[in-house]
This record gives sequence, C-alpha cells and structure tokens, in this order.
Amino acid sequence: MTDSRWSDDDPLAQGDDLDKRVYTSRLLGADPSLVLHGGGNTSVKVEGTTVTGRSERHLYVKGSGWDLATIERGGFTGMRLDPLLELSNLETLDDLTMAREIASMRLDSASPAPSVESILHAVLPHRYVDHTHADAVVTLTNTVKGIDLVRDVFGEDVAVLPYAMPGFDLARLAAQELPQLLGSRTIGLVLMNHGIFTFGESARVSYERMIELVSRAEAAVQTRAPRENRSAPSSGPNAPLSTSAHRLARAVLRSEVSAAAGFPMILSSTRDPVASAFACAPDVATVSQQGPATPDHVIWTKPKPLLGRDVEAFGVAYRTYFEMGAQRARTEVAILDVAPRVILDPELGMLTAGSTAQGARAVREIYRHTIDIIRNAEVLGGYRCVGREEQFDVEYWDLEQAKVRRAAAPREQAGRVVLVTGAAGGIGKACASRFLAEGAAVVGLDIVEGIDQVFDSPAWLGLACDLTDPHSVSAAIDEAVFAFGGIDAVVLNAGIFPSAQPVSEIIAADWRRVMSINLDAAVDLLREVHPLLRLAPSGGQVLVIGSKNVAAPGPGAAAYSASKAALTQVARVLALEWAPDGIRVNIIHPDAVFDTGIWTPELLAARAEHYGLTVDQYKRRNLLGVEITSNDVARLCVTMAGPAFSKTTGSQVPVDGGNDRVI
Ligand code: ZN
Repeated sequence: MTDSRWSDDDPLAQGDDLDKRVYTSRLLGADPSLVLHGGGNTSVKVEGTTVTGRSERHLYVKGSGWDLATIERGGFTGMRLDPLLELSNLETLDDLTMAREIASMRLDSASPAPSVESILHAVLPHRYVDHTHADAVVTLTNTVKGIDLVRDVFGEDVAVLPYAMPGFDLARLAAQELPQLLGSRTIGLVLMNHGIFTFGESARVSYERMIELVSRAEAAVQTRAPRENRSAPSSGPNAPLSTSAHRLARAVLRSEVSAAAGFPMILSSTRDPVASAFACAPDVATVSQQGPATPDHVIWTKPKPLLGRDVEAFGVAYRTYFEMGAQRARTEVAILDVAPRVILDPELGMLTAGSTAQGARAVREIYRHTIDIIRNAEVLGGYRCVGREEQFDVEYWDLEQAKVRRAAAPREQAGRVVLVTGAAGGIGKACASRFLAEGAAVVGLDIVEGIDQVFDSPAWLGLACDLTDPHSVSAAIDEAVFAFGGIDAVVLNAGIFPSAQPVSEIIAADWRRVMSINLDAAVDLLREVHPLLRLAPSGGQVLVIGSKNVAAPGPGAAAYSASKAALTQVARVLALEWAPDGIRVNIIHPDAVFDTGIWTPELLAARAEHYGLTVDQYKRRNLLGVEITSNDVARLCVTMAGPAFSKTTGSQVPVDGGNDRVI
C-alpha cells in the first residue's frame, strides 16, 4: 500500500468531474492490494440536463466488465439518479426486474451494463463514492470477532453493515440503516465479509479516505498479526518441481480438470513460496475449505479449492453443494461446470485453472491474496467468511455470471496449449500471433535471445531453446507444462535454409546440420511430446510446416528439400501411428514467403534480377499471381488446427498461389 498518489499535475486531475472520477479509479485499480481483476467499483454524481432542458441528477457508475486500472470515460455508465433511489425503497426486487429497471435508467443505451452495486452508490449521499475489497479490510471483517476488530480499528469514522447479498439486498439494507449510521464524521462504510466504501465531495477526498482507512487496517493487521506469527514459507512442496514425473502428473491433472469442465482448460502452476507452503501446510484442510474473502471472488475461484488431485470427488461434492443451493435459490438455476479452479496439492503446490491463460492467472492472483488474508485472519482469531448459502447465492447470481460470460467470450482455440518452434520471427511468429488471437496459450521456442519478449501476454511463454539439445528441449517442455498444464498442438516450423550447393559439391557438415535441425530435432521433439499430445483435452495435433520443395524441388537445395521431404514422410507415418490416440497430423507446404528474416531486400533484388523480373513480379511468380505472406501460412495453420479440419489427418495443403509442378 502506498500513500496517496494524487497529483494535481495529471491532466485528468484538472478535468471535469468524470475525468477526476476516471483518474482516482485508475489510482485505486493500479494497487492489487485494493482491487483485483474487475473487483471494486466507483461512481460520481453530477447535475445533468434532459433533452427537453430540465435539470436532473445523474449517477456515473463503473460499467460491468471494465477494470478500474484501465477504465476510461466510456467505462462509466450514466444513469438517472432519482428513479434509481426510488428502487431502494422497494421491499423486494428480483434480479431480472432490477437489471431491466437499471438498464432503462441509462442515459445512453449503448453504455455498458452498470455495476451490480449501482443502487448502493445511488443511496450513498456523497458526490464521489469509492468501493474496494481491500485485502486488509476483508482480513479484519473475515475473522471470528470481526465486528469488534473493525470498531476497534476505525472507531466512529466508519459505519458498519453486516453481510448482505450484493445488489438489491445490500442496497436496501443500506437505504434503511445508513440514515441512522452516517454522522458528520463518517468517512467510510465497512461491509462485513465484503469490503469497504469511502466517499466525499471531491474525487481526491474520497480516494484519500480510502487510502487512509485501508492503511489503518493494514497497520492493525501488521501489529496484531506480525509476520513472524504467520506460516513461514520455509518448506515448499516436498519434491523437486520439474521432474518428468511431475510433468506427466500435471498434464494428467489438467486433462481431468478439462474433462470435468467439459472444455479445455489451462492449468497453471506457480513457484510462489507462500502458495507452495500453503498447499502442503498441516492445517490446509481446515483453513482452505471455508470460502472466499469477498463474495465476487467465488466466480473465479469457486467456493473451495480441491485438496490433492481427486477431481472426480471434487465434482461429486460440488454437485451436492449445487443441489442444496438450487433448492432454496430465488430463481431457477442451471449447474455450472464442476471443475475446480484452485488446486492445492502437497507435491505439485498450488495450481489454478481457467478457460484461458489470462483466466488461470487471474485465479492465481486472487487466491494468492486469499492465502495472505486467511493466514492473517487466523492469527487475528480465526478466518470466518460467509457461509455456503451466501456463497451459492453469489456464485449462481445471474448478474455475476454475466461478468464471466463477458470476460471470456469463447474463441476457437481457448484453453488449448500450442507449442511453436522457431517462433521469434517469420512464419513461426505469425502462427504464434494467430493462435494467441484465437485464445490459445502459446509456447514459443527459439534459439534467439529475447524470445520471451516477443509477445506481451500471460498466454505467451517464450523460451530460448536449442532444439538439437535434448536437455534444452526437455527443460522447455517441463516449463511449458508448468505454465499451462500440457501441450495440445505442436507447430513444427523451425528450420534452416542453407546457401545453394549442388549435390556434387555438398559439404558434409552443412548437410548434417540441415538434417539435424530440420529433421532430427523435429523427430526428437515429437517423441518427447507424444505423452502430452495423447492427453490433450480436445485431441492432440501436429502441424508440420513443410515446403513446396517436397513436391517440386529445385536445383541446389538438396539438403533442405530432402530434410522437408523426410519430415513430411515422418508426419505421414505419424498420422497412421497416432490416429488411435486421437492425434491429427497435417502438413502445410508454403512457397515463396518473402517476409521472413532470410529474405533481405538485397537478396530479393538479386534473385529477381537473376530471373529478369522486378521484385514485385518475382514475389508473385505463381498461377494466381499473388504474394504469399507469413500471415497467410499462419491463417491456414490455425484453420487446420480448428474444427474445419477436425476429421482430417495426414493431409498436405499447399499455400503457394498455385504451382503447376505441385498440382
Ligand atoms: Zn463489492
């Protein structure tokens, strides 16, 4: 936690009310001890005018699906304030009606769905309202004597409300209780087992009150639960993490988690020492099985982590929890998938699952904070979060599920892990980029340094790797499985194209080098990943980047053509051998892809001149007269990995603009 980071010099700090709202929302969102993954919400009340010239009060509240850290003006939904306030006087209001009513109060029907806590923002009389689930505050409120602790730490500065279901119930409770609770000194509102609100007449005051109250809570946690009293992260998981046995154990676990979910999931491991220590702590079975520190975490983490690796037993227990909850649910509910999201295993440490790598990372970050909250709360007298029924109500609240749906619009490759060799540039990089765009997690191997920086995404793992060194390859695969839980598809792209040599003049060392990189390394890699491809949740795949030269060789390229022809033949044999494992093997034969590192402008010019052509003519030397780019090859590669080719194996598809020698 930092001090106030308000700066008068920031252009947003000098802007209008909504600019200031954007500014302090981002300040809050930038601190993960205050706000995690779409959690928290903020608002501002302003005077507006209707189209007929009547003045009315408006509330701008964070739109659902926006993150405070990156929110913009358009992320705030403007609503008419007075009808919103009227809603809070109702005795009851079902979710569907509430959502419809709130939607109808929007000033612009194209603005995002407003926060589920909109009515509560309306009820609070202050101009600016800030809401977070700050770690230190939920630590205090999730303890056995939480209410006493909160009173002790904050005194008369805050009003306190007991836990109520977010949305209408909470807003209604606030509307009834706050007139008695809010005094002239009140600067905040603590919601037991949930979080904290601060408010004020300016953006700065409301924001700095949040910083002040949370700092006070942090100081209280520090003094009462000194670091030395907390479980020391001295012992990690018992066994070393990167052995090949663990590689397979992680992949099997991911396969079972995906089967339970009904769709492929990413399963991420972590080396975080605190998480690892928690996973094998003697008391983990008691302290981890209560529930989340604030209600909306349940949609990411599910109510409880799985202890150990019995995914099936987790599913059975989850179904029982669902059936009990469904009986008393206010609306008809359909069961969500029964896969765990957090797994605590004494050997494998903490693993988190998500339908994408981003999702798995969000779960990891949220649960990592939960561990600290639980540990601190234990020292403060015992962790006590809301009960099973309240957790169910939030998990199966349609308005919360809508957040998940918005966050993860299913993409074709979502949940899959694709390994691309030679991923730093050219066709390999284009393939990696396409697979990332389609939702896959991508492991990119390349000999060049800086491969880790090629893409900036939690779904990207770039590893420097010498494909001709079995130890280097094995270590990279271990890392891939550690990060994402398996490997579902391999794009064999890495290869070298040596300078032209007629067979009569071939230098033996050059020949062997081409074979070793283009052929031997590929075969070694295939052998190594086979056990993982077999476990791929939606079927394993091999995609070979071959060459036009296989069908239509040219003089001077014997080593290259022979290596690609041999690799093609290996792939055809694999299509036969691995079909019983559900693994598809398909081959792409590109030609004349000039936007790669090999083709400098000088080389292109020289080759064009050799044929008496301009560079442009040279690039389009094919039947269709089109230029072929790395991206064209990548697009075909992703298509062949997708449903259109789900019943095809052993195929060879050219991407060469049409070549009469190939046809
Ligand atoms: Zn909240």
